[in-house]
Amino acid sequence: MNEPNPNDMRTAKIDFSVAGRAVSLQVQVPAGPVSPTRLLPLAYALANTIVDMAVQAQPETVSCSRGCYACCLQLVPVSTIEARAIHALVQALEEPRRSTVRARFADACRTMEAAGLMEGLRDFSRIAKQDLVAFGHDYFAHRVHCPFLEDESCSIYAERPVICREFLVTSDARHCDNPSAQTIRRIELDARVSRALPALEAPDVAPAMPWIPLILALEWVDAHPDDNERPGPELLQALFARLSGKDLPAPPGLGA
Ligand code: SF4
Repeated sequence: MNEPNPNDMRTAKIDFSVAGRAVSLQVQVPAGPVSPTRLLPLAYALANTIVDMAVQAQPETVSCSRGCYACCLQLVPVSTIEARAIHALVQALEEPRRSTVRARFADACRTMEAAGLMEGLRDFSRIAKQDLVAFGHDYFAHRVHCPFLEDESCSIYAERPVICREFLVTSDARHCDNPSAQTIRRIELDARVSRALPALEAPDVAPAMPWIPLILALEWVDAHPDDNERPGPELLQALFARLSGKDLPAPPGLGA
């Protein structure tokens, strides 16, 4: 049997419910093997929908606003798929901007190396589950700006990682500068697309703790240049199976 042409598309109809409301989606995916990054626009749209519906379903007002960037000083865990998208995005920048952004990644890594946090950042599975929150606090204490934070705003807003979309708080914004479990109230979500994204990695490739810190995204992709292409329908099925099934353990930082 012939392999499907990568340009052939398959249509899937997906029905699910979020915050007690039904959602019906019709999505098209390539029939043949493609990079899992091809499903990121769908993941972004799904995350936006789930977050919007969760916000509408709860009575409190979201405190996050333009110019408030405390979350962008946090440890931001991204999936390996998003790391590839971030790497491609930086590579596509014109010079000298590309070098400027790359230098910010390098600066952030140097700070974390000097702080002694790099071993845990390079492999989250080395951090004991009970220490994940404290590790995130240690990271935040160094006030390292996300390499994409510019003029107090996200410079890649439309393509920001899913976990950045999912983190909204209703507690007083003043607490975000000194966050703790007691002072921060976040919007609870029925499902977290950020935790489903690792399902897009082939099962024999995905590690047990398949997140990496955003600041290490470039380094990680440089060391793992081979993408794992899979047929589009298989990727879609894997994403929704994970979304509707068992969550993976939470990563540290914004994920904890
Ligand atoms: S990607 Fe954008 S929203 Fe996410 S931490 Fe960085 S600057 Fe903030």
